Amino acid sequence: MTSRITVIPGDGIGPDIVDAAIQILDKAGCGLEYDYVDAGLSAFEKHGELLPDHTLATLDKNRIALKGPLTTPMGGGFSSINVSLRQHFGLFANVRPVVSFQGTQARYQDIDIITVRENTEGMYSGLGQTTSRDGSEAEAMSKVTRQGCQRILHFAYELARREGRKKVTAVHKANILKSTSGLFLAVAREVAAEYPEIESEEMIVDATCMKLVMNPENFDVLVTTNLFGDIISDLCAGLVGGLGMAPGANIGANHAIFEAVHGSAPDIAGKNLANPSSVILAAVQMLEHIGQADNAARILTALRDTIESGDRATADLGGQHGTTDFTQAVLDRL
Ligand code: NAD
Repeated sequence: MTSRITVIPGDGIGPDIVDAAIQILDKAGCGLEYDYVDAGLSAFEKHGELLPDHTLATLDKNRIALKGPLTTPMGGGFSSINVSLRQHFGLFANVRPVVSFQGTQARYQDIDIITVRENTEGMYSGLGQTTSRDGSEAEAMSKVTRQGCQRILHFAYELARREGRKKVTAVHKANILKSTSGLFLAVAREVAAEYPEIESEEMIVDATCMKLVMNPENFDVLVTTNLFGDIISDLCAGLVGGLGMAPGANIGANHAIFEAVHGSAPDIAGKNLANPSSVILAAVQMLEHIGQADNAARILTALRDTIESGDRATADLGGQHGTTDFTQAVLDRL
């Protein structure tokens, strides 16, 4: 059955790396059809809006999207388009896996960690942000709900169960943020009790950062609130060789958007220098989500082979080749 998905090429390096992923999906015979729409700076330049209604309608209709990074213009009161998309479609779970590949510049091998981040609540959601007129004071609000905590914790444990994972670590700061993080931790304990076959661990966020750097092989699935998840997942990307290797899925009850974790990289945009691996890995996550596990595995093997052999590697992987050469090396293995 053909599935029609929405594709947002995005800004900066986005169009080049998304095009690489689409070529790979097609060569692997995934049978997908695409509706291309704009968001971000490119949409603003063409349509005068960062998130046009047509883009929202297409995302709503197709339910599944592959998205390039978006540039949010600085200043001018623009709110993040990524945050708006997550809230509009209720994409409450941000799933960010990191896996070691030999042949990257990573300090560690054998890393296989999934960060499950609550994507719609907490400090990161931008609630109640104000700055006093004279600029001497600023405030922002953090709100988490029991239902939001239950939803993300169940999601993490169900993912762990489905993928045969051994341990879920709930990351919090309940010793200081007694209300918000305290509620998350209380719910984490309740939900953990429903999954006796999975080891449950609780860890304060600062200690988690130290332990991730010292002994990352001890971690399996991490589940946490929005802001902590944002920071920890980038730390995890650093463990496996940087943002060029990190995909992320934004999943809700009815919609899902798959993307690279990194941004639009304006410093290398238009230079054919970007590593497309993170958005290719996001496409792999998307295929798993829509029931094409075989094609996902084939693409992952082709990507792993390319990186581990050093064939036509991009600069961040220690090579001297460009996005197009690297993409061709993956295509040659499919
Ligand atoms: P960035 O992630 O774009 O870049 C950080 C560094 O990593 C840069 O040196 C860049 O060259 C490098 N890099 C990123 N992706 C790479 C790749 N695929 N291959 C090789 N090198 C890569 O972060 P930034 O510069 O802070 O942000 C730029 C813009 O992106 C901002 O407008 C920001 O708001 C936006 N952004 C968007 C998303 C998203 O859409 N999901 C995420 C983060 C940032």
